[in-house]
Amino acid sequence: MRLILLGPPGAGKGSQARVLSERLGLTHIASGDLLREAARAQTPVGRQVQECLTRGELVPDTLVTEMVLAQVSRATGGRGFVLDGFPRTHAQAEALDGVLAAAGAPIDRVLYLETSPVMVRSRLAGRWVCRSCGMNYHATNLLPRRPGVCDRCDGSLEQRPDDAPQAIAQRLQVYETQTAPLLTYYRQQGLLRVVDGNLSVEALYQALLALFQRERLLPSDAA
Ligand code: AMP
Repeated sequence: MRLILLGPPGAGKGSQARVLSERLGLTHIASGDLLREAARAQTPVGRQVQECLTRGELVPDTLVTEMVLAQVSRATGGRGFVLDGFPRTHAQAEALDGVLAAAGAPIDRVLYLETSPVMVRSRLAGRWVCRSCGMNYHATNLLPRRPGVCDRCDGSLEQRPDDAPQAIAQRLQVYETQTAPLLTYYRQQGLLRVVDGNLSVEALYQALLALFQRERLLPSDAA
């Protein structure tokens, strides 16, 4: 299965992509994670990426597209992939289509995690992320067993700089102007499915499983 998760920051794309990859064997490709890794390298490109991340602006298309499409090409041969955070612009969507058409491996579904603005803000403002494995926690809804320590790998938890209130506002605006138009792009291709991004990670996973079974992307006994 080749999937795209679309939705504003805070819609739960990362958490859902992680579950889909763990349970269905899909490769999780997260453009934000790739970019944060590039930024940590502190090369000239890394510093440019870091500036965009901190301001809550998009990284230039050419830079991010090259990184993500290299991973997509590698993942087309396996059980499939779930894209989290990519594409975010028309140019990225077209570049992705080009690579997948050449590989004879088109996108199966684009899942739009429709999420209320109140939910988005509360998730982002309370989010804590593991520095080592990227696992997400939340200050009130999803506490780690030990404060500040990841349950999964014992890594230390931090708040993302772009989850600060000003950067959140900027990211939401960038989403509305540059990424939301992709909903029309994928709806016109018949690929878009709207799902409830306000649900818990588990409830949304179950809803997606039912959708995949209904649409015969998975056998009816898959769990
Ligand atoms: P995310 O982890 O998906 O919330 O992404 C964090 C940040 O990485 C975004 O606010 C952008 O600055 C950058 N970013 C992630 N994906 C993309 C993309 N597809 N195109 C441009 N910038 C991106």
